[in-house]
Amino acid sequence: MKTVLIGVGQAGGKLATSLVEFDDRMGFDAITGALAINSAKADLQPLPLETVLVGQDKVNGHGVGGDNELGAEVMQSDAREVMGALDGNITAAAEAIVVVAGLGGGTGSGGAPVVVKELQRVYDVPVYALGVLPGRGEGAMFQVNAGRSLKTLAREADSVLLVDNDAWRSSGESMEEGYDAINEAIARRVGLLLASGEAVEGVGESVVDSSEIINTLRSGGIASLGYASAEAGEDAADNINTVMSTARRALLTGASLPDATTADSALVVVAAESDRIPRKGVERARRWIEDETGSMQVRGGDFPLGSERIATLVLLGGVERSTRVEQFIERAKEAREEAKQERQDPNTAFANDELDSLF
Ligand code: GDP
Repeated sequence: MKTVLIGVGQAGGKLATSLVEFDDRMGFDAITGALAINSAKADLQPLPLETVLVGQDKVNGHGVGGDNELGAEVMQSDAREVMGALDGNITAAAEAIVVVAGLGGGTGSGGAPVVVKELQRVYDVPVYALGVLPGRGEGAMFQVNAGRSLKTLAREADSVLLVDNDAWRSSGESMEEGYDAINEAIARRVGLLLASGEAVEGVGESVVDSSEIINTLRSGGIASLGYASAEAGEDAADNINTVMSTARRALLTGASLPDATTADSALVVVAAESDRIPRKGVERARRWIEDETGSMQVRGGDFPLGSERIATLVLLGGVERSTRVEQFIERAKEAREEAKQERQDPNTAFANDELDSLF
């Protein structure tokens, strides 16, 4: 699927860069343009992408801190300039636009929904968001920011593919140490999905194409992506169980949004050397995903790759009823209530401190 990427904020710019680098390294050519937008000059400087600095009049290149309302405001004021810069990158070949952002911060959290809304007014191709949810260990402000951003994005975007920052983190690493590894993991998985929709010459009709990704995401709302890989034998017939076991792991333990298993629609993509992919295995995995997700709309296909391993991707559309999303929204709501109470009654901070007042 020919895709234009727009990274908003620090995480957005870094992730867009990782995706472009993965696509280049693999020679997929699925990403046809990429741009990074930020209100913090220092975060744009290291990126090997075309960049747009917004909000110079208000924050003078220093960023918006964690203020996502300000993030939305500066993006809206500079919308004309942003859309002008995007225009040169979004060619007629583009089949989709993906706006990438960390939802817990300021510029990406507030700015990404504005960029999506502006793009929807101008372009006919679907506009998706790739949003990073703060991990459970991140503070209340991140959770509230992400809750508000997600709500707005889900309304404006054709679909929001969510990645929980805890989902693909290697155990034992702190959040900051883990970012590079998480970004690599996201780039590999999302990059494979985008490339799987590319036409492959001379291969049969079971190959995935862009319309299948678009149709899977058509239900809107929130989407999740699962991934798992394993060694494969040379003979396709020997790999039926491998396809099944990778599909199971992709859905149950390898998902970008853990515990999201009820879905409106799904797409299972099996990537490997063409001769190693068992049709029967793909069909069996497709049916298993139908049972597991309760969806009657499960598509399946191959992605022929020069790889001896089998990698299975499971894209789920319409997962907003999942436990993780519900828990997250509940947590964001609680964090907002707490913040509100603290603001309303400054004395609550001293409620249990056992200090005597001076008079
Ligand atoms: P912004 O620049 O104001 O948009 O803020 P950030 O992009 O730094 O957003 C903060 C949120 O994104 C937090 O939840 C961070 O955990 C997360 N984040 C920051 N940098 C990265 C990164 O490189 N990768 C990932 N996966 N998450 C990040």
